[in-house]
Amino acid sequence: AARNKDDLRSPICCILGHVDTGKTKLLDKIRQTNVQEGEAGGITQQIGATYFPVDAIKTKTAVLNKDGSQEYKIPGLLVIDTPGHESFTNLRTRGSSLCNIAVLVVDIMHGLEPQTLESLRLLRDRKTPFIVALNKIDRMYGWQAFPDNDFRDSLAKQSRAVQREFEDRTQKTILAFAEQGLNAVLYYDNKSFARNVSLVPTSAITGEGIPDMIMLLVNLTQQRMSDRLMYLSELECTVLEVKVIEGLGTTIDVVLSNGILHEGDRIVPLRELRIKSAYVHHSEVKAALGVKILAPDLEKAIAGSRLMVVGPDDDEDELMDEIMSDLTTLMNAIDKSGRGVCVQASTLGSLEALLEFLKVSKIPVSGINIGPVHQKDIKRAATMLEKAKELACILCFDVPVDKEAERLAEEMGIRLFKADIIYHLFDAFTAYNAEITE
Ligand code: GDP
Ligand code: MG
Repeated sequence: AARNKDDLRSPICCILGHVDTGKTKLLDKIRQTNVQEGEAGGITQQIGATYFPVDAIKTKTAVLNKDGSQEYKIPGLLVIDTPGHESFTNLRTRGSSLCNIAVLVVDIMHGLEPQTLESLRLLRDRKTPFIVALNKIDRMYGWQAFPDNDFRDSLAKQSRAVQREFEDRTQKTILAFAEQGLNAVLYYDNKSFARNVSLVPTSAITGEGIPDMIMLLVNLTQQRMSDRLMYLSELECTVLEVKVIEGLGTTIDVVLSNGILHEGDRIVPLRELRIKSAYVHHSEVKAALGVKILAPDLEKAIAGSRLMVVGPDDDEDELMDEIMSDLTTLMNAIDKSGRGVCVQASTLGSLEALLEFLKVSKIPVSGINIGPVHQKDIKRAATMLEKAKELACILCFDVPVDKEAERLAEEMGIRLFKADIIYHLFDAFTAYNAEITE
């Protein structure tokens, strides 16, 4: 396809970090439209994502561009807002991340917390460029708020005591990052995006530092995203969530991270080892954005899987094979001896993350599944009662367990470990394992 300036695509940004650091609040704040000015440049809340067109970005960063010298090359920015970092784990195909840039949120009053470290590991594994939002600066004692201001201007207006507290806390955070092997520097002191991680102080309550954060995202994506990435090209699409909606049936929420989807395109979602095609009608949509797809037979679509369009010259079976290869890697995680715990997760991405973790921890796995835990999953885990009683359990990662399944598990003596955070699940299981092997 011809590459012209109108075919640039928007980069995709994910927000990660420990619980309660302000991820949701930050996004709410940048989404907030100025009531007096009405609609702020067409910010649209989409399925699982918010799209910021470049005009909205220009408005939000105006305090930092008083002389008008800033260049804006991207057409907009798509911020994924499904909660937690499941969205980040999902935005991945065959080892590469579809998330172009991430914001790691750290509470300046708390420093690095367990999930911050987990997020850091994910970001490094995926080689995703990221910035750190040092959030909640307004909580420093005596902070005087200047709503939506440029951070450095706000800092200059604080008392000496506040400035000193800020310096102390920043220094501590920098040290904590150094312990993780990372060079962190305040973004305005950062001379090399490639070598150092930028810290951008923010408040999701007062809006201070948010212009700085958005500007940094713009500059970083413009500098670090290759030209190839910037152009609309091959279709890249990932299923974020499979949802049943009353009156509509099963729908899938997808992120279109590159390419164009047309009405009537024939798509192949990944199903549970049974293969069937589906026909989808949708108006033409261009990357990057989040869309809901309505189609028959979506019940078995798997969150985290890729979605492909069958072109006129494509062999549908070949495309299916390609998608299925994503699952094969996961199947390889299953212990050949037939002994092991069962693992159930909400999406392909989270299952993959959990399996990696279990592998490192040398906990064998005998079965995997995606989605809610049903009776059949309990029955499968029960086969372990005779082989290795201590492994007759299911690690349920971010999935509901239905009532009958819960009852059956109780009856048969199958332990269920439930958690939304990998290391909680892992801790619970190792504690139990130590107890019974005593
Ligand atoms: P998440 O779990 O990371 O999504 O965190 P939330 O956005 O839900 O925020 C957790 C709590 O911290 C909420 O009570 C927010 O109001 C509060 N909070 C978030 N950002 C800030 C901030 O910049 N300043 C202050 N003072 N509170 C904040
Ligand atoms: Mg939240």
